[in-house]
Amino acid sequence: MGQEQEQERALLERVPSGLFIGGKWREAADGGTFAVHDPATGAVLTQVASATADDGRAALDAACDAFPAWSTTPARERAETLRRAFDLVQERADDLALLMTLEMGKPLAESRAEVTYGSEFLRWFSEEAARVQGRYGPTPEGTGRMIVTRHPVGPCYLVTPWNFPLAMATRKIAPALAAGCTVVVKPASATPLTTLLLATILEEAGVPAGVVNVITTRQTGPVSEAVLTDPRLRKLSFTGSTAVGQSLLRQAADGVLRTSMELGGNAPFIVFDDADLDAAVEGALAAKFRNTGQACTAANRFLVHSSVADDFARRVTERVEAFCTGRGTEEGVVIGPLIDDDAVERVHALVEDAVARGAVLRTGGAPLDGPGSFYPATILTDVAPGSDVLREEIFGPVLAISTFDDEDEAVRRANDTPHGLVAYVYTRSLTRGQRMIERLESGMVGVNAGVVSNAAAPFGGWKYSGLGREGGAEGIDEYLQTKYTLTGDPFA
Ligand code: NAD
Repeated sequence: MGQEQEQERALLERVPSGLFIGGKWREAADGGTFAVHDPATGAVLTQVASATADDGRAALDAACDAFPAWSTTPARERAETLRRAFDLVQERADDLALLMTLEMGKPLAESRAEVTYGSEFLRWFSEEAARVQGRYGPTPEGTGRMIVTRHPVGPCYLVTPWNFPLAMATRKIAPALAAGCTVVVKPASATPLTTLLLATILEEAGVPAGVVNVITTRQTGPVSEAVLTDPRLRKLSFTGSTAVGQSLLRQAADGVLRTSMELGGNAPFIVFDDADLDAAVEGALAAKFRNTGQACTAANRFLVHSSVADDFARRVTERVEAFCTGRGTEEGVVIGPLIDDDAVERVHALVEDAVARGAVLRTGGAPLDGPGSFYPATILTDVAPGSDVLREEIFGPVLAISTFDDEDEAVRRANDTPHGLVAYVYTRSLTRGQRMIERLESGMVGVNAGVVSNAAAPFGGWKYSGLGREGGAEGIDEYLQTKYTLTGDPFA
């Protein structure tokens, strides 16, 4: 065994394989397990416990038991616990980064960037924890006093996707804990290991037993249903596809749960004729190929002014042809594997549909042979309206370009989607940039910026892209509920 393989093996042995419930690691009630794979090789990395519906309820029991003490723990103490967790995540950055690359495939440099981004939620919400405030004042009539206070919503169910295994977990756990809530976390079954390692870090940081519970499962539907239909649950926070989000929203309706839904996107990336084309190319590469295109914020539809489209396509193609594709642990890799072979097939079907409708394939365009789920960086130009690649979330390294001739057309086409997570605009004109900010139907806009995510900003979508916000000052609101109290006139 080479040194690197030994390091990987040793890391995998340090990751717990059980369910984390009430501060204890345990097996699934029926002893069931499932395999976690390395998408770059197809090899089994390890086995982890597969929770049953009873395990889901046990995790909620633990979260409910822990709630009274945690919700009344002084905010400063909760803040300091989160701050210790931030420090520990930083200390364990190498382990967390390698683990994400192993189970999810992203290049190691991107995993390191995710550790930085993901840990920031722990620091940001450690800072926000002590800033939850209320208000006090007279009624307009002067007949009484109004007091408005804010309270943790209660036990929460947090469901995360596989594409950002650390950041999607901390983006929910940190504000929940800062607000005084307890949680049951269910990571995606493709990537449970990062959350399991994070649970050990949170425990070490001093998070009390039962405040954070982690259940991994391959029976996602029944386990989630057991938790969601339990009347003790008060909140669902979900990040994932719009279709699954819609079905969970229906289930959440019966319990009148608070919900935060971070769903799919179909981001337009608009390049005007007055754009700095060098900057637009850099932004396009970041917005498209980060995480091998598997990001909800990935640019999905490149709308480029017809006078600069050829130049733009030539420049991105040159850059993409130099990309190195391979296992994320290898030096210099930019394009890692997709999450599994189904993803490769799905992405390839989108490319084939576009080409069949007349798109020009500039580079890439066919799955790579050999072990692992690889699809090369692909560029399509002259993509015809109505192509699937424009309507569906690609979730892969395919950059699809079509052209426009004026601003109104760009706006109309950008907004022609049920999604509204993020939009990107490249222009040198301040006023055009301002008009685009106002006209785009999108929860987030990048103007001359290809990556918008920041722990200090409210991340979230309009329309079918979701409900609620994660991060920023807004992030903690999702885990708080309001109480209004009227007291009589103290001078009466
Ligand atoms: P997914 O919807 O398949 O799965 C998300 C989570 O839901 C996973 O934990 C999965 O196990 C669970 N799940 C799946 N079916 C379920 C069911 N029937 N009942 C309960 N839980 C269920 O999404 P994914 O493939 O893991 O992630 C990709 C999607 O996530 C993309 O659409 C992407 O845009 C979206 N995403 C959105 C954001 C955002 O912030 N808006 C961030 C990252 C990813």
